[in-house]
Amino acid sequence: MLVWASKKFHVEADPKVEAILALLPGANCGACGCAGCAACAERIAKGELPPDVCTSASFSCVKNIGECVGVCVEEKEKEVAVVLCNGGVNCLSRFEYDGVEDCKAAMLIADGEKACSYGCIGHGSCVRACPFGAITIGENRLPVIDENKCKGCGVCVSICPKGILTLRKISEKFRVLCFSKDKGKYVKEICKFGCIGCGICVKACPSDAITLKDNLALIDQEKCTGCGICVEKCPRNAIRMVG
Ligand code: SF4
Ligand code: SF4
Repeated sequence: MLVWASKKFHVEADPKVEAILALLPGANCGACGCAGCAACAERIAKGELPPDVCTSASFSCVKNIGECVGVCVEEKEKEVAVVLCNGGVNCLSRFEYDGVEDCKAAMLIADGEKACSYGCIGHGSCVRACPFGAITIGENRLPVIDENKCKGCGVCVSICPKGILTLRKISEKFRVLCFSKDKGKYVKEICKFGCIGCGICVKACPSDAITLKDNLALIDQEKCTGCGICVEKCPRNAIRMVG
């Protein structure tokens, strides 16, 4: 009976899918949007996903995956997560939160306890979501990214309800670690390191790499030469070296 059943229900494995699966890292992290590496391999083989969809696979594996599906893959610069907030314990709280340690749950109560509605609330949803154990909560109650462990998969970016995690190219040198679009006067009252939109960095940058939008400085990474003048000039320590 068992022999009959195994013959009747036997499904031929697709050698292309098998070859791709053998090249994927087997982390089953789900960062590609699939249920696991096997589902990812199937979708790559069908041409539904690009051969470089898995950010955990080494470039030589990705190149070989490309060969399996007849696509030439270019090597991309490594990306890692960055937290666009300097607040943490340096940002005032409006009340004491003693609910579930989950950022989305904390936000259900008046948008979280922080006086800054744009900043990190520090309940570590990103820490628990990271499939590679690359995030911890630091002493200042902000997430700390271990760039050696980070695979740039973007799971933390999609889980953060405040939207303050993003990916950056590993070669980027400086970032404005603030996401607040509030007026400078209010930011000064509630956070020690928030950007107040004073524009000093805009004037100081010799490469015209910084602009102001919605009371927030933004560095154009294509124009930034990494001179660090903005870091020296910013009266709020809002711009930090990240690379
Ligand atoms: S820190 Fe974020 S981007 Fe990096 S591996 Fe963890 S979840 Fe992925
Ligand atoms: S100098 Fe600092 S505080 Fe002023 S706009 Fe630039 S980043 Fe913001």
